[in-house]
Amino acid sequence: MEQLKQLTDELLHDASSSLLFVANRPEVVMERGEGMLVWDTEGKKYLDFIGGWAVTCLGHSPKVITDALQQQSTQLVNVSPAYYNKPMIEFARMLTKLSGLERVFFGSTGAEANESAIKLARKYGTLRKGGAYEVITTTRSFHGRTMAMMAATGKPNWDKMFVPQLPGFVKVPFNDLDAMAQAINPNTCAILIEPVQGEGGVNEASIAYMQGLRKLCDEHGILLILDEIQTGLGRTGKMFAYEHYGIMPDVLTLAKGIGGGFPLSAMLAKEAYNLFEPGDQGGTYTGQPLGMAVGLAVVGEIIGRKLPERAAEQGAYLQAKLKEVQAKYGLTEIRGKGLLLAFDLPKPLGAELVSACMAAGLLINAPSPTAIRLMPAYIVTKAEIDEMIHILCKVMDQLFGK
Ligand SMILES: *Cc1c(COP(=O)(O)O)cnc(C)c1O
Repeated sequence: MEQLKQLTDELLHDASSSLLFVANRPEVVMERGEGMLVWDTEGKKYLDFIGGWAVTCLGHSPKVITDALQQQSTQLVNVSPAYYNKPMIEFARMLTKLSGLERVFFGSTGAEANESAIKLARKYGTLRKGGAYEVITTTRSFHGRTMAMMAATGKPNWDKMFVPQLPGFVKVPFNDLDAMAQAINPNTCAILIEPVQGEGGVNEASIAYMQGLRKLCDEHGILLILDEIQTGLGRTGKMFAYEHYGIMPDVLTLAKGIGGGFPLSAMLAKEAYNLFEPGDQGGTYTGQPLGMAVGLAVVGEIIGRKLPERAAEQGAYLQAKLKEVQAKYGLTEIRGKGLLLAFDLPKPLGAELVSACMAAGLLINAPSPTAIRLMPAYIVTKAEIDEMIHILCKVMDQLFGK
């Protein structure tokens, strides 16, 4: 034990003296994961309800990813984006069939998929809308951390960071159809929106709002781009969140769960928006065989094991369990879909709750001082949910003094 502690202290010292500082991280070093569990270098075990930030949808170290990496890495790791490769074509077929959108472009991160969508929207504006380039997004949205995506994102104060920002993004309040209608002008080429705002604290778009957006886009001939980087591929209890709303997007972006932990993203578009010309879009890692093989394995597993249905079922159970203790702890709202859930605390003790839960062996996330977000792997069992509730309540008893 003493030896492990010393080893960890040395690692933490090296971390703080060599990594560029970007975030306050707890004083542990994660070492291993299996299913719903992760272990740190001191051997302490954690029940993981962050799921790699809604990424490790099949749990930690699933066999399908190990097998895909092993098999593909002996075949072909990279052959340059100048050539087709087999897993690229197979994965493109799988995703286009699954989504009903005919075309796909592959990237490595969510921000990159969104950048592709914005480029495509501007291309559309140039070719079909007399040079229109403005994209309307919403307040409290999150679309990524590249320069363009920081301009698209509606986080408070982000408009003042790293100025000058990329122009061409207009923000309106989320779930406010009138505000959206008013913001559309001849310079608009697209609307970019999350059906459920993830980082913003799990805010669900209403059905009337999403259907209204679809109608507005049709009337004005502008693109409806859905950022399903967090909500896509089963997270909300349907394969895609747009299925909850009975609408189809023109352009769809996916990342996070698509690689089950491997960096991978995709932008899908209707056939009518297959508009790029050579030189417009690309990337060293677009459609690289290793990532494509992992994507095929992960999405194949999501389809084959009907994991969206499982996320709906386990999510409903988790919501019901939270509701049982809602009154006792004064949780003001429980919300979300499938396994993308959040609840509000009566006091701004989010950070304290997160660290106390971590000490007690449970990983959860606080997107704001008053909100707690849960996004476990789809494989989470009811017993693991019971255990999570047990730890959470014990910690809230101490913290809220009940
Ligand atoms: C995480 C996230 C992104 C950014 O994805 P990265 O892989 O971090 O670039 C964009 N949009 C939404 C909705 C996200 O949740």
